[in-house]
Amino acid sequence: MSKNKIWLCLAVLLVLTAAAALKYSTDSFSELNIQTVGELSDEEHPKIALTFDDGPHPVYTPKLLDGLKERGIHATFFLIGKNIEGNEELVNRIQEEGHLIGSHTYNHVQLNKLSESKARDEVLKGCNKIYETTGTYSSFVRPPYGSWKKNLDFCITMIPVSWNVDSLDWKTQNTEKIVKRVVKDVGEGDIILMHDIFDTSVEAALQIVDTLTEEGYQFVTVDELLLE
Ligand SMILES: [Zn+2]
Repeated sequence: MSKNKIWLCLAVLLVLTAAAALKYSTDSFSELNIQTVGELSDEEHPKIALTFDDGPHPVYTPKLLDGLKERGIHATFFLIGKNIEGNEELVNRIQEEGHLIGSHTYNHVQLNKLSESKARDEVLKGCNKIYETTGTYSSFVRPPYGSWKKNLDFCITMIPVSWNVDSLDWKTQNTEKIVKRVVKDVGEGDIILMHDIFDTSVEAALQIVDTLTEEGYQFVTVDELLLE
């Protein structure tokens, strides 16, 4: 074999090796990419729940429902019994659109300041109002001010629902501050407290949904977090 032929063979071999190496690295790169940016399965999305107290509100609740529907998100609404009066259609809309309804007592009272029988009546009256309106008994109650009456669970079979993240939306009534606070504090399994009776809360809630969905969170109703 002439010197020239040997050089030619070596050059061909070099090109083939380089091509093989390049193909290998491209393959491993795309495998890596699939693993890094691939879709998370349902179990891998951390679950959190948005909850809204003190409604229904004839203006802000429908606005919130529109925004949640657009995003395919379900939330939990703890309704004040007396606010249901005159807003029955709205309450049925909340249920029809797949949200969970709980009671926030009938008159928004601080249960631990009442006698046992009065506290029980408040919770049951709120619950009955929801049943009269929607035909469904709610299993969940959010005690106003977070004050549950000691031993009330002995005579009421409803589950009291607290929260882990307080948006303080009623206090600041500032969309940017509400969003910042919730996004900073939230973690897997958390229940977020908000109120659908302020425009700023509705705006903030929808921004929170957008930001946290982007971060991989999955919004569920509180029964999914509490009854697992
Ligand atoms: Zn309240």
